[in-house]
Amino acid sequence: MTEQFSDSVPTKYWHVLDDGRVQCDVCPRECKLHDGQRGLCFVRAAEGGKVVLTTYGRSSGFCVDPIEKKPLNHYLPGTPILSFGTAGCNLACKFCQNWDISKSREIDTLADQASPEKIARVAKELGCRSVAYTYNDPVIFMEYAIDVAKACREVDIKSVAVTAGYMCAEPRKEFYEYMDAANVDLKGFSEDFYWKLTGGHLQPVLDTLVYLKHETDVWFEITTLLIPGMNDSEKEIDEMTRWGAENLGPDVPWHFTAFHPDYKMTDLPPTPPATLTRARDIAMKNGLHYVYTGNVHDKSGGSTYCHSCGQLLIGRDWYVISEWNLDEKGRCNKCGTVCAGRFDPRPGDWGAKRLPVQMRRYA
Ligand code: SF4
Ligand SMILES: [Zn+2]
Repeated sequence: MTEQFSDSVPTKYWHVLDDGRVQCDVCPRECKLHDGQRGLCFVRAAEGGKVVLTTYGRSSGFCVDPIEKKPLNHYLPGTPILSFGTAGCNLACKFCQNWDISKSREIDTLADQASPEKIARVAKELGCRSVAYTYNDPVIFMEYAIDVAKACREVDIKSVAVTAGYMCAEPRKEFYEYMDAANVDLKGFSEDFYWKLTGGHLQPVLDTLVYLKHETDVWFEITTLLIPGMNDSEKEIDEMTRWGAENLGPDVPWHFTAFHPDYKMTDLPPTPPATLTRARDIAMKNGLHYVYTGNVHDKSGGSTYCHSCGQLLIGRDWYVISEWNLDEKGRCNKCGTVCAGRFDPRPGDWGAKRLPVQMRRYA
């Protein structure tokens, strides 16, 4: 019997194959589906000879976080961001750190419902400057994310995508028209790593990064989760960050974050802080201006320094801003060099708070 998908909406990036199946063209997975079948991401499916999104308007939960937690260190520092995700994912990372959501096959996980207009309204009411599409990859629920972003633009709320960048060129163009900022995971720098540990390929992710840098105004930062023995060799980090400096320039901030044993990788140790510091040193030696360590307590590795004179520009202690040495135009107050990013004249004061939000409580 063909499954009916209750919250489904039409999508446009797909085509019919000669054998009658439909192929989803949103990401390089290219899922080929018979009617009633779901794609690998679980939220897109074939229904009535078309590909539909089955979870429009449904979320795994809402929460206000500091924007630094996405992580974004150069985009409206200190401000609160309303974060939400849905379920499912288009990669199958063995080291997933969000697997309860991303691997969810239970639509029950999608506890909270909200229209795009309501999300924008609640974000405004809560004093958020932006909304984050996060916890799982918004690429797979792009129709919902885009509608939320459009509603947010109406009330001057920015949109932030937290994504693995695994997307095809055409939908990518439409998706980023509505995003103001992004954090993109670059999970490793070998095809072997991508294929064996994520079930995806490296090149499409590099293409997304180059596209963002050279063809959009989206502010973006990169995150690499370092997994002991898997992607943390000096050689891999050297090649990866050299590629970054050459293809994206020196100003894209890069976050090296610590792995915690989880999901299918419980036999590995957590990343030693020294590995993160070493990665940061290599990246800076390769010319990158803003390199951070994450998921560990490291005041200097979490702070922003002027690449010209070395002055501490934004001091951070976990997610709390402890020092601010930028002038009103985002320049170093000692030497006048511009710090790359999008800054208000003053930082926000949200601090490290995490505020769960129940949408049903709002009108
Ligand atoms: S978005 Fe989902 S259904 Fe579409 S190709 Fe990717 S994994 Fe498959
Ligand atoms: Zn300076």
